[in-house]
Amino acid sequence: MNAPATVTVNPCLDCGACCASFRVSFYWAEAVSLGLPDAALEQTSPWHTCLRGTNQAAPRCLALQGEVGQSVSCCLYAQRPSPCREVKAGDAQCRKARQRHGLPALAVAAELRCESG
Ligand code: SF4
Ligand code: SF4
Repeated sequence: MNAPATVTVNPCLDCGACCASFRVSFYWAEAVSLGLPDAALEQTSPWHTCLRGTNQAAPRCLALQGEVGQSVSCCLYAQRPSPCREVKAGDAQCRKARQRHGLPALAVAAELRCESG
């Protein structure tokens, strides 16, 4: 008998809420080491920068493409900074972001990295 097929579903690909909920701030040197373009950044202090679009009342990272809660992608995915890499589907930040956008909490913390996103 054949083993059942494994289907991997990444909930981030139809979400993106965390990319449109928080200020994504990090140490400026990280942006240099990752090769992030200046156009994607806004300096917020002598030592910190943030992803452009996230330092406002209704944050939305300029690298986020698509519609939150439907279908999204990140045009800086390979260069995304540490705050983007730290949020995981189903964790506390994820729940907060999804709630902000009227999306239900994910049932379990999946071992996935945000790919929307
Ligand atoms: S980590 Fe959570 S909030 Fe962020 S894109 Fe994935 S499912 Fe959405
Ligand atoms: S994962 Fe991409 S779209 Fe989301 S906040 Fe980070 S750089 Fe922006």
